[in-house]
Formats: sequence, structure tokens, C-alpha cells
Amino acid sequence: MSGERDEAGARALLRELVSDVRQWSEWNQVLGADALPMAPPTAPAEPARAPETPPRTMDSGPRPAAPPAPSTGESAPRSRPTFEPTRRPGPPPARQGNGILGPIRAELGDCTRCGLHEGRKNLVFGVGSETAELVIVGEAPGQQEDLTGEPFVGRSGQLLTRMLGAIGLRRDQVYICNVIKCRPPNNRDPSPQEVATCSPFLVQQVEAIGPRAVMTVGKFASQRILGLEDTMGRMRGQTHQWEGVPVVPTYHPAYLLRNPSAKRQAWEDLLRVRGLLRR
Ligand code: SF4
Repeated sequence: MSGERDEAGARALLRELVSDVRQWSEWNQVLGADALPMAPPTAPAEPARAPETPPRTMDSGPRPAAPPAPSTGESAPRSRPTFEPTRRPGPPPARQGNGILGPIRAELGDCTRCGLHEGRKNLVFGVGSETAELVIVGEAPGQQEDLTGEPFVGRSGQLLTRMLGAIGLRRDQVYICNVIKCRPPNNRDPSPQEVATCSPFLVQQVEAIGPRAVMTVGKFASQRILGLEDTMGRMRGQTHQWEGVPVVPTYHPAYLLRNPSAKRQAWEDLLRVRGLLRR
């Protein structure tokens, strides 16, 4: 009996090892094989050093009534999962908040709370599963996002999708949004006042979704969420806490496109996220 148990345990371990190697291989294909490390990094233990920053709360802003957002459809993404996190039953992927996020989207309305509304083509609310176990938070919409109304499109968005795929997650299994929902002119950094005005809606979105983890991408989003002024190199590599949710900062896909040598650290961050989703 004990021998059978040992054998089953060894088989499970082997399956996990094969899965890890396959995902590492897929990750190396994400940014090309030109900067391959000699060996896969080991997954950091969770929670290794958490929490390393105290939870931070953003005050909610005013909530004037506004017309509800139009509902839009979303095409089914390709399927290539190699790791399935524990899933909660829920509605199909929602775009622009037409499910449990609907009231928040309605409250936001055709927002004019800060000056960024003047130059926007589309307000970029967020996209993905409203029961996601992982919420990804970027800085603010860029030109493509402003045109399409969807966060993380274009080359950076494609890379983000492939990064997720490397840990077995499809884009429609996570929720993707930004700290700021309207494009700043010439992609400048949003001002502290704009962040203070817009971020309460992000807090509400995260609270409504209730994910197991948040992954912040890029220095600006990580700094604003964590309330830190550190460099990306100092913020990443550890699990923080925000609004009671573990937060893993990592590099922005646009940075990884310019600096593929950082992909090893990005892979470590993804493994950290995967570890949080598996708990
Ligand atoms: S950035 Fe946020 S607060 Fe400012 S107008 Fe857009 S939705 Fe409103």
C-alpha cells in the first residue's frame, strides 16, 4: 500500500516537473531564444518575504450618477493552457463591465472627473473575466488602447498574452485594467491628482472581482498601487500587499520587448504569480 502511494507521488512529481520544463520552454519562445539562461530559474517559495510593504488603501472618490455603459461582445481566445488554476464558476468573460462590474462601469459613466477626458477617444475600463483569480494592472491607455477601448493591445498586449500563456493562463481567464482609464496626452505620466481621481474605480473593480493575486506591470503602476517611489528592480522579486490582496510587480511588456535580457526576472515574477494562484 505504502509502495503504491510512493509510486503515485513520484508520478505526480514527474508530471509537475515535465509541466514546469514545458512552460519554461514556452516562456523562452515568448521573447526569442537569443538570451536563454542555461537553466530554468527555480520558483520562489511563497510567501517567501510577504508581506514586505503594509497594505495601502486609496480613498474612494465622489460617485455622481451616470448612464450605464453599452455592453459589448468578446471573441473567444485561443486555447493553450498547461496549468489550470483553481477556477470559480462564473459568467463568461465580460468586456467593459457588463456583469458584476456593471454598477461600477455605470457609476463611472461618460466620466469627466479629471481633465484627461478631454483628449480621449475611448474610456478604457478593463477587460476579462469578472471572476478572475488574477488581475493585471497597467499604467494608462496608450494610443492603440485609446482607439480600441481595450487595455494592452498592440505588441505589448500580444506579449502580455504570451506571458500569461507561458504559465498556462489564457487572456480571458484574467482581468486586465489600468490605474488610469483615459489616455494622457502624448503618453505622459498621469498626475497625482489624476491618479487620486481615477484610482478609486480600480479599487472597486478589484474588490468586486476578489482575485487571489494582482500583477502590476511597469514602474508607474507598481509605484501607484504600492505607494512606493522605488525602482522596478527594487519593487519586483517580492510579494507585496494592497487592499488585502497579494501584489507581484513585474516589468512592462514594452520594456521586455526593448530589454529581452530582463525576461529571466519576468519569468521569476510569473512563477511567483503562479504560486499564489495554486495556493
Ligand atoms: S482618467 Fe479616470 S477620472 Fe479622469 S476622466 Fe478618465 S475615467 Fe474619469
